[in-house]
Amino acid sequence: MQTGQINVQTENIFPIIKKFLYSDTEIFLRELVSNAVDASQKITTLARLGEYTDDVGDLKVEVMLDKEAGTLTIRDYGIGMTADEVNKYINQIAFSGAEEFVKKYQKKGDTDSIIGHFGLGFYSAFMVSSKVEMISRSYKHKKKAIKWECDGTPNYEITETEREHRGTDVILYIAEDSKEFLEEARIGEILKKYAKFLPVDVVFGTKTETIKNGEGDDATEEQIEVPNIINNKEPLWTKKPAGLKNDDYQSFYRELYPFSPEPLFHIHLNVDFPFNLTGILYFPKLKNNFEVQKDKIQLYCNQVFITDSVENIVPDFLTLLHGVIDSPDIPLNVSRSYLQADSSVKKISSHITKKVADKLESMFKKDREDFEGKWEDIKLFIQYGMLSDEKFYDKGAKFALYKNTDGKYYTFDEYTSQIKATQTDKDKRLVYLYATDVEEQHAFIEAAKNRGYEVLVMDGPLASHLCSKLEQKGSDISFARVDADTIDKLIKKDEEQPSKLSKEDEEKLKPVFEEVIDKTKFTVVFESMSETDAPMIITQAEFTRRMREQAASGGGMMNMFGNMPDMYNMVVNANHPLVGKILEENDAAKQKKLSKQASDLALLSQGMLKGPELTDFIRRSVEMID
Ligand code: ADP
Repeated sequence: MQTGQINVQTENIFPIIKKFLYSDTEIFLRELVSNAVDASQKITTLARLGEYTDDVGDLKVEVMLDKEAGTLTIRDYGIGMTADEVNKYINQIAFSGAEEFVKKYQKKGDTDSIIGHFGLGFYSAFMVSSKVEMISRSYKHKKKAIKWECDGTPNYEITETEREHRGTDVILYIAEDSKEFLEEARIGEILKKYAKFLPVDVVFGTKTETIKNGEGDDATEEQIEVPNIINNKEPLWTKKPAGLKNDDYQSFYRELYPFSPEPLFHIHLNVDFPFNLTGILYFPKLKNNFEVQKDKIQLYCNQVFITDSVENIVPDFLTLLHGVIDSPDIPLNVSRSYLQADSSVKKISSHITKKVADKLESMFKKDREDFEGKWEDIKLFIQYGMLSDEKFYDKGAKFALYKNTDGKYYTFDEYTSQIKATQTDKDKRLVYLYATDVEEQHAFIEAAKNRGYEVLVMDGPLASHLCSKLEQKGSDISFARVDADTIDKLIKKDEEQPSKLSKEDEEKLKPVFEEVIDKTKFTVVFESMSETDAPMIITQAEFTRRMREQAASGGGMMNMFGNMPDMYNMVVNANHPLVGKILEENDAAKQKKLSKQASDLALLSQGMLKGPELTDFIRRSVEMID
């Protein structure tokens, strides 16, 4: 028998381990099962190299609960450890790692654990155990095994023993305050979370299966107990993309997210230089809002689940995607700020961005019609990417689509050449007209079309940010919503319509209209428009509206715009016969009625006439018919 003091200066390290890692106690199981998987894979490697010539056998990892004894055992049939190795890896190295960890993080109070990073994995067992035993038989020995025991003080004991199989048992005597880890359901849940895709069979308990004996009428059914394997050893992302079909990706998606609607398409990531990364990202069906679930990407390290909150690891706009990323190069268990600064994480992040952009570009080139069909579902994601990442903007410029009010899709360059001749104003500025709501802005869209102009549909929460971005990237271009002004003011040409109203006429009319509108909201202005245009229309200046929208969606820095009241122009068409009639009307009551009717019509055409005002309008209209 050998006894000794674990090589560490700190008087008693375990309470510290326990305290620091408490919030995440369940990961002890991940650490121990991962160690068991590693040990299993190592024996396969040795056999392949010819350094181990006996039968490798069945390499499963068994997790066993014994409620009566109060123990949880993790058993593997891997390489095992000799007494020397236990001394080296468990008594010295692992513990020096632990000490380093404690020294570093004791003061900082950083509760984000640093376990695997400093080889603290094995000792995380003490977060939940009052005593830990390890029985291990190295592949180098026929029968001889060692038993290591430690009760949570720095004193350990090693004795010689025998073990039938090669490999290691780690036996945890679950502590009083950790009894939850003696519950089958709890252990099952943790294994499902962390071990679902481990590369070696992980067995937890048994399950009943029905087997058929015999054929036809003589056949009997029998219930048998079989080991319950909880993992899929070869998840799809570990396979070569060339041999996989779309169905494979769809069914893997269902495995990851049961009950979710089918994804639109996927990207299989497979990188081995300058870092290792595999994974599958799915484009989910997004709704036109930001209520999308963001923590759907799962991060793995060699098939061990690490986390599903990947902010800072992948760029924000990519967190809208679903799927898995597996990289041995992502440091485990380190704090978020550390991850963010880590250079390999940065590289991974920009590489994923590039891959996603490349995939979208190739889809666009290969089958544009299909891409257009998917556009409404993916545009939010692409626009978000283009707004938040310059590199993605440049790539996205090639495939981002813009739809006009007739439902035809263009790239930005295509659209620009389409409208250049007609929509360049007298100051050589190219004006992109757009609508955010085709129904509400119908009258304005028609007015634009009557001039031979085209109108884009720019809807969704990012529309106004995107307009600003495109303006900033282009030169001599501007975006104007169709109702930002009268159409001839939006795209000013050389020839101007003569006005039928003199300055005096306008001064006479102004108070007449001001009397029938809400002056805190509307300003009366006169425009010489075509006789066939509406007698009055309501416009709202592009700049203030856009600032308000951007402030509302949280993107604008100018929050003051969010608090400003909505202001509109009540534009009176100086050339409309009705306006002439109102001017000429001598009966004041009649004049008021006509101007009220005309301004109400303008409100109505914009969906702004509501409540008692709307009721009055209808009553008045019925009277007028009589
Ligand atoms: P890490 O796994 O990060 O190296 P651990 O503290 O978990 O740190 O383990 C320390 C070392 O102990 C491992 O690197 C391995 O050599 C050895 N070890 C731990 N568990 C086992 C096991 N089940 N079988 C064989 N060796 C093991």
